Amino acid sequence: MDSSNKNIRKWGHWEISASKPLIIAGPCSAESEQQVLETAIKLKSSGKINIFRSGIWKPRTRPGQFEGVGHIGLEWLQNMRSEIGMPFTVEIANAKHVEHALRASADALWIGARTTVNPFYVQEIAEALKGTNIPILVKNPIHADIGLWVGAFERLNKSGISSLAGVHRGFFASNSAPYRNDPKWEISFDLRRLAPEIPILCDPSHIAGKRGLVEQIAQVAMDLQMDGLMIEVHQSPKHALSDPDQQITPLELHSLLEHLEIKSKSVTPLELQELISEQRVMLDELDVKVVELLEKRMKIVDELGHIKANNSASIFQMERWFDLLKQRGDQANDLGLNQEFIKDLFQIIHKYSVEHQTKIYQTLRRQE
Ligand code: PEP
Ligand code: MN
Repeated sequence: MDSSNKNIRKWGHWEISASKPLIIAGPCSAESEQQVLETAIKLKSSGKINIFRSGIWKPRTRPGQFEGVGHIGLEWLQNMRSEIGMPFTVEIANAKHVEHALRASADALWIGARTTVNPFYVQEIAEALKGTNIPILVKNPIHADIGLWVGAFERLNKSGISSLAGVHRGFFASNSAPYRNDPKWEISFDLRRLAPEIPILCDPSHIAGKRGLVEQIAQVAMDLQMDGLMIEVHQSPKHALSDPDQQITPLELHSLLEHLEIKSKSVTPLELQELISEQRVMLDELDVKVVELLEKRMKIVDELGHIKANNSASIFQMERWFDLLKQRGDQANDLGLNQEFIKDLFQIIHKYSVEHQTKIYQTLRRQE
């Protein structure tokens, strides 16, 4: 632990800092007592894993898939902890699960994405946890609704749980390619803004859906200064009974953690802070100009709107619009900018221009 680091957060008895993120790892599901013990021994040997994870009740999207070994898995986890001293966490989805997990003295619990989405389930869990202060991780709800995520923290907090952390595992989207779940990092930024005291971990495994992408997402999470990682690890990922495509081996996890570049936020040298502020001043100046240019553009849109309305020309001219998109896209390309970024930007500018001109038409029509 870096003792010079003043930005230390407590979560349960763990201490999290920019230079020492919380690392949770283990299989998607506990499959046998031997698998739990062998995996945990390998993870412990890296000296970097804080908590062992494994699902024992698995919420599956469709029936007929492996639904977990059930509460017998808690005995395996307890035996593993007494043998090698590694704390463990399991997913709980109802009051009965909470009861079993508390009886097994689990070190932490997590609420899955399919549970956070339902306030009835979260409330039931919160009631069952009353009187304890076990650390709880809350995964983001499947859908990008920050209210459900914040609501879950509030319900748990009202039940007296003060050690809360979020797990960003991405969001369902009809097209999340190349990932299994759309990261939508901005949702975590919102959570950070609304509840700055809550640490947020990233689960790159469920965002990625493919083991080849796990490392790169874990690095993005660290670049965004998230507080830790929850990663799925299996000794033989291809043969895993759940999520076989996204699990990595203990050896791959060791290498991932070895390569992970961790940027410290609290020990930023003064020079670095100054450099950052200089760049920010320049950005602010440019942003002011961008807004001024948009105001000038809107004035022309307004004049054009009146000309079109007075001459009964249609507001939207498809050819002109496609032409504009192409020209600006090509310009972006020439300048080495991302074409999609500029096209997206012009879609928004165009949307508000059309909306403005529509209002002009409506006003003129009312006057007729
Ligand atoms: C899991 O962690 O194995 C799991 C089921 O995750 P999620 O709730 O994020 O889908
Ligand atoms: Mn999983």
